[in-house]
Amino acid sequence: MSFITANVKRILAELPAGVELVAVAKGREPSAVQEAIDAGARMIGENYLQEADKAREIIGDRVQWHFVGHLQRNKVKKAVSLFDMIETLDSLALARDIEARCLETGKTMPVLIEVNSGRESQKWGLLPEKVKGTIEEISRLPHVRVMGLMTMGPRVGNPEEGRPYFVTTRRLFDEMKTSNLPNIEMRYLSMGMSNSYRIAIKEGANIVRIGRQVFERS
Ligand SMILES: *Cc1c(COP(=O)(O)O)cnc(C)c1O
Repeated sequence: MSFITANVKRILAELPAGVELVAVAKGREPSAVQEAIDAGARMIGENYLQEADKAREIIGDRVQWHFVGHLQRNKVKKAVSLFDMIETLDSLALARDIEARCLETGKTMPVLIEVNSGRESQKWGLLPEKVKGTIEEISRLPHVRVMGLMTMGPRVGNPEEGRPYFVTTRRLFDEMKTSNLPNIEMRYLSMGMSNSYRIAIKEGANIVRIGRQVFERS
């Protein structure tokens, strides 16, 4: 068994029922991504459109492709055609561009709202207090379907220090869930990476985005 196969099987066996693995493929060869899929990965995360384009051409749509990078407004057209979910929607302007593109193609685009839970000036994502208002606006766009929240959280030495940012995002998620806006469905909470996914799951994540622990030898 290759180490990628072993990694994916170990992680999938460990995840509680209802928690999905997004194997984050940035910088990996399509053959490595293929191995992860053969081992059971069902969702692939991509940060770069070109890489995703290449991988998707080879692998096809047997898996769900999630965009987890920063989406520039001039790349919306490509992103809408390539991805099954955009996890990093962080502005109304971008949502409007997605809506305009989807209106042309007839697609409805599932998205997660990226939350800048650590309030970091250099990070993308909406500040927590902006999330509700922005989701209300997006809920009026018929071809953009908000399905939950995503956060990165600050880079911390000890993963335990990242817990409060997951808690912040979880609280927002619960608040949005009970607000009953039309055209939104708070189903996914995407948080946690290789070094933090166990903590994120304890704090309510049901999507974990894992790169190194999938694609690197442990
Ligand atoms: C790279 C990346 C990950 C995975 O990080 P690892 O530390 O390799 O597990 C998760 N989410 C996003 C947005 C990323 O860019």
